[in-house]
Amino acid sequence: MTAMTTLAERYYVARGILYPHQIDLDVIADELSITVRRMPRPSTSLTIDGQRIVLIDSHLSLPEQREHLAHEIAHHVLHVGSQLVMCASFRWLQEAQAERLAGHILAPDHMLSRYVSEAPHYLECALTYLADVFCAPLRTIKRRIDEWHENGRY
Ligand SMILES: [Zn+2]
Repeated sequence: MTAMTTLAERYYVARGILYPHQIDLDVIADELSITVRRMPRPSTSLTIDGQRIVLIDSHLSLPEQREHLAHEIAHHVLHVGSQLVMCASFRWLQEAQAERLAGHILAPDHMLSRYVSEAPHYLECALTYLADVFCAPLRTIKRRIDEWHENGRY
């Protein structure tokens, strides 16, 4: 686990957030002074007069909306500057970092470990269940479980 991805875990543990249903991304965004609006248009984020505004596509499913918001929170925490003036490879790196941290915001290790340690051999079957529990897209949960396996943690 890298220092970047422990950010989410440290944040949650410091606030006594120990269970998936306690993860309220709007509260986190508010704490970070990010304004969140949901509207029927593609998700995006912008900064106006130093104020970060995240627009979330209200047509998306709730798990997809949460992933978009987690991704934008991750950018806010990790990155400064505009991607519009960035070279492609650096933008790609930032996207990969944001995606990784978003996965930890949605399904942090200290919560995931409970499920992984209880049923390590049935995890592949449990992906849909975990996606429901964490209210996250299936691909995000799959990626988090893959990360878990790569780190040799079960
Ligand atoms: Zn991004």
